[in-house]
Amino acid sequence: MEKQLEVMAKEQFGKSLSQCTNQEAYQLLLKLVKNQEQDKVQKPSRKLYYISAEFLIGKLLSNHLINLGIYDEVKAALEAAGKSLAEIEEIEPEPSLGNGGLGRLAACFLDSIATLNLPGDGVGLCYHYGLFRQVFQNHKQEAIPDPWMEPESWLEKTDVRFQVPFGGFTLESVMYDIAVPGYGGKTVNKLHLFDVKLPDEDLVQNGIDFDKNDIRHNLTLFLYPDDSDDAGRLLRVYQQYFMVSSAAQLILQEAKENGWDLKELDQHVVVQINDTHPSMVIPELIRLLREQGIGKEESIAIVSKICAYTNHTILAEALEKWPLDFLKKAVPHLVPIIRELDKKVRKTFPDDKLSIIDEDNRVHMAHMDIHYGFSVNGVAALHTEILKNSELKAFYDIYPEKFNNKTNGVTFRRWLMHCNPALSKAITQRIGDGWKQDADQLEKLLAFRNDPETLNAFLEIKQENKRALKTWLKDAQKIEIDENSIFDIQIKRLHEYKRQQMNALYAIWKYKEIKEGRLPKRPITMIFGAKAAPAYILARDIIHLILCLQELTTNDPAVSPWLKIVMVENYNVSKAEKLIPACDISEQISLASKEASGTGNMKFMLNGAVTLGTMDGANVEICDLVGKDNIYIFGKSSEEVIRLYDQESYSSRKIYEEDPVVESLVDFIISKDLLRIGDPENLCRLYKDIVNKDWFMALLDLREYIQVKEQAFADYEDRMAWAEKMLVNTAKAGFFSSDRTIAQYNQDIWKL
Ligand SMILES: *Cc1c(COP(=O)(O)O)cnc(C)c1O
Repeated sequence: MEKQLEVMAKEQFGKSLSQCTNQEAYQLLLKLVKNQEQDKVQKPSRKLYYISAEFLIGKLLSNHLINLGIYDEVKAALEAAGKSLAEIEEIEPEPSLGNGGLGRLAACFLDSIATLNLPGDGVGLCYHYGLFRQVFQNHKQEAIPDPWMEPESWLEKTDVRFQVPFGGFTLESVMYDIAVPGYGGKTVNKLHLFDVKLPDEDLVQNGIDFDKNDIRHNLTLFLYPDDSDDAGRLLRVYQQYFMVSSAAQLILQEAKENGWDLKELDQHVVVQINDTHPSMVIPELIRLLREQGIGKEESIAIVSKICAYTNHTILAEALEKWPLDFLKKAVPHLVPIIRELDKKVRKTFPDDKLSIIDEDNRVHMAHMDIHYGFSVNGVAALHTEILKNSELKAFYDIYPEKFNNKTNGVTFRRWLMHCNPALSKAITQRIGDGWKQDADQLEKLLAFRNDPETLNAFLEIKQENKRALKTWLKDAQKIEIDENSIFDIQIKRLHEYKRQQMNALYAIWKYKEIKEGRLPKRPITMIFGAKAAPAYILARDIIHLILCLQELTTNDPAVSPWLKIVMVENYNVSKAEKLIPACDISEQISLASKEASGTGNMKFMLNGAVTLGTMDGANVEICDLVGKDNIYIFGKSSEEVIRLYDQESYSSRKIYEEDPVVESLVDFIISKDLLRIGDPENLCRLYKDIVNKDWFMALLDLREYIQVKEQAFADYEDRMAWAEKMLVNTAKAGFFSSDRTIAQYNQDIWKL
């Protein structure tokens, strides 16, 4: 490896590796990896297309080196030349092609699909500026573009082009590819990202604003452009159709190349529709098959055997319903097909609840997926049960055979081997390295649950990871934290249902306790990381509250030694990789029934953090696996919460008025202390919302949350007992490997 890199350095830059800059070394590694990944494309007889608006892939250098099996060699070769792989990794920009869990899931899935040697490619869009980059100014979130495309990168321009027809004009799509090597390096699949031919980055002015009407040039600038007005919503429709038309044309082109009979396309192709964003692939495939001379009924029948839909949410506002007028404008040629699909449904099922086009002339994308797909899956056991028994009950009643559960998972290559090498090594020393291929083998660690030497080693590794996080935070954000404090971490998209506001109310409670002289046994560091959708006002207000609390506690000498509040800027995959291995307590506190699965919870557990959470999403399965002694559960059950919504009987004002402790915590949001630091408009709006509405019921579980969190902090002091909890969590995490999830998708749905 050393020799090879030296030769490449000479060839490309005319100097030795040790004389190369980190930027140059990065380019050499890119080239090295790409050479090894060539010519591994297979000729399958059946293939998966995983279509998703998001692929939150993170940095790729280590991922590729690990999966090709050359990580250690390359690292050593670089070290011999006086270079550090860790520093070179910093050069790589992280593409922000996703928003959160759904996009990260798609990335973990691609890794596992290739690792299981399954023929399956991802299809999405090549957003030039991703979601956005978050910066803090005056204790508020500001959004700026997050460019990541560079002349030399993982992205390879191909010569594949498609004509995508819109109402009144046609756009050419250009396909870019990113290689996706499986662990073991036998299979290399592709992530196909489509761009418009003439993107214009100069359209973006001040922050992330741009001309939303200039579709030809703006279509691939941002993921989820602001949809608070019609122009923004319409742009999302244009984006979605651009994505799925390109995908559908790619599918038919490859079918032709492979010599597949289009009338038997369902035997060769399966399409996974990741959430509703790609739903228009159904009418688009029907349209294209009909263009190829296949009859109407037959086209519909074929497509219905190809498409499978994954549901990711039961939040009503997140289930897309596009006004038919938008479709008439953007994609008029799909409208007759969608009407036809709706008509067929109405003929068989007169119940309006089941229709695709409702009485307000809105198209329910999920309904189209369920009627004209062969599989509907939820992403955790509880979530799937809620879909079957309440959210989608009417559909489950008519298509019970379509519904199935696929509990999410994460790739252990990134979320253990790469982000926590010390723990990986400690595990391998004790149980061998079979767990890297077969995650269930982590259970062998249970033989060490009472072994003091192992428990001490796990504690020491956690401590070292906490020190590393401390160093990084000081560098990155000039924030000083105490590595001997308890690291309590909540990192995820900002949303009311995830209840960061409830955690902030805990912080206020702790602050008051400390001010009144009741000091904790050990200092506490509360770490938050979250982006808020720019148009989601309350989410931004919650960020503002947390940043104000950060300022307040930092500058209060009576409090700062005991309670530190930190909001990490621009939370993303690379930051998750630094935060998760250093975490003691993993905050998974969504309102029960609202978090479809969560995957952050799995990453934390795998890295030996103990979960503090509600019985929601995959927390339920984590609890089953580790047992009540190794997790902290609180809060009302999903049944109780669903009943509260059904009966419209929740009143936050009642709790606020009847519980003086709750009242004092909520009032603190508009106290003199905070108004001095923050913006009254934001703080008052948040205060009023919590008192009068609190749609996601933060006050409902607040008292029990405080109590159980205090119990967790107290238990932390028995270090050996805590270390056993850590070990059990890691040992039981095998179920949450995305290799298991993908094996199940393949067994039950894809049949590749
Ligand atoms: C895993 C992950 C998520 C999902 O976290 P949840 O807690 O499951 O919502 C979001 N963002 C990033 C960067 C992640 O790595």
